[in-house]
Amino acid sequence: MERGMRDDHVFHRDLSKKYPLITHGKGSYLYSEEGTRYLDACSGAVAANLGHGIEEIASAMANQAKRAAFVHTLRFETPVLYKLSEKIARFAPDGLNKVYFTSGGSEANESAIKLARQFHRDAGKPEKHVVIGRWQSYHGNTFGSLSAGGDIKRRQVYTPNLLHFTHIHSPNCLRCPFQRDKGDCDSRQDWSCSTSLEQLILEVGPQNVSAFIAEPITGSQLGSVVPPDNYFKEVRRICDQYDVLLIADEVMTGFGRTGKTFAIEYFDVIPDIITFGKGISAGYAPLAGMIVHDRLIKGLIQNSKGKFVHGYTYSGHPVSVAAGLAVLDIYEREKILENVVEKGNYLLQKLIELKREIPLIFDVRGKGLLLGLEFAADAEGTPFKQDLQITERINEKAIELGAVFYPGSGTINGYLGDHLIVSPPLNSKTNEIDELVHILRKSIKLTIEEIRE
Ligand code: PLP
Repeated sequence: MERGMRDDHVFHRDLSKKYPLITHGKGSYLYSEEGTRYLDACSGAVAANLGHGIEEIASAMANQAKRAAFVHTLRFETPVLYKLSEKIARFAPDGLNKVYFTSGGSEANESAIKLARQFHRDAGKPEKHVVIGRWQSYHGNTFGSLSAGGDIKRRQVYTPNLLHFTHIHSPNCLRCPFQRDKGDCDSRQDWSCSTSLEQLILEVGPQNVSAFIAEPITGSQLGSVVPPDNYFKEVRRICDQYDVLLIADEVMTGFGRTGKTFAIEYFDVIPDIITFGKGISAGYAPLAGMIVHDRLIKGLIQNSKGKFVHGYTYSGHPVSVAAGLAVLDIYEREKILENVVEKGNYLLQKLIELKREIPLIFDVRGKGLLLGLEFAADAEGTPFKQDLQITERINEKAIELGAVFYPGSGTINGYLGDHLIVSPPLNSKTNEIDELVHILRKSIKLTIEEIRE
């Protein structure tokens, strides 16, 4: 057995692997039992947005645990719950004022799907039950969220149990699923990726469609792909026309990750529901949820006696909520958004330089500190053979060299694109970004040498 690894009773997601044993973390670094230092260049799963070992957050959680570790939110409210909801509503786009908490992002999207269904049903439209999602997207692992998402590999295991939701393609101008040219789309002011939503709504029947769910910037499935400027404006117009609710899944992008509090702000539209997770507690506690537009709340009060038929034991868990409150305080006090924009631009430039140096980097993209690299076998973008698992290999090399990234592959016209998310903590320093790029460069070069052997 390698040093730092051990056999244990943990049911890991991949039982074929052994994992380094992490004993503690400080700032952007994690430390293993044997003292190896890892630069957390992906903030865990794009969650540990302030890095590790922050006393202030740990103390806020401990203090809350001592005061009241648990109250059932069906019966009681806590001061931290009240304060965090108020703060989130203040950060959210106009009209989104009520916050519902869950433990994770999958539960958040599950809640949004259910709320959309109940909202229409109680308004006298019981047929509206189909959610339209997008291929090349991820909304979680519970049956509802998995059904709405477009992760082919995860979905196929559970077919035919998935809900009968339908999907359009995610926008991806570099590899347009409609074989359109971006310049042509822009000049015609006609984006196939958004008009396909209208076509699908008409096919399914507007009377049957409850909601459309999308990540404003596509994270794990495509590696931080930004849609065309007018995409969400068109989507909003179509949703309004057919009485379809717009759910923005900001589980990965929310709370500053892309340089705005919510990534949907880049596109100047107001969704009906924003779901969030990860960054709200910066990974210090399981916390996620949804922010709901006044219009839906009004509907619930008028048509459902104010009752949302849904709930979790740990909804609004006081210790998690206390963590969230401490995290938002730090985001504000330390002007984290400014750091994301500054360090995001710096990192983007460094990655663009890396692309010039290493032709197998086919694309560099993203916003703020949610950046993505796509790899291809040549300058035309020919994909690598799937079994090469190029980004997994790069990440393995990086781990050996002391940094961890977020590799992934999504289906692009039947092809599994090789991408790597680069998403260090939002409070990263310049020297950490330099170290990240240094390790990444080395890992890519070593991987290229290996596959050419
Ligand atoms: N939505 C998006 C966009 C995500 O990236 C994720 C997780 O990666 C989820 C939902 C699911 O969140 P969780 O893993 O907390 O259930």
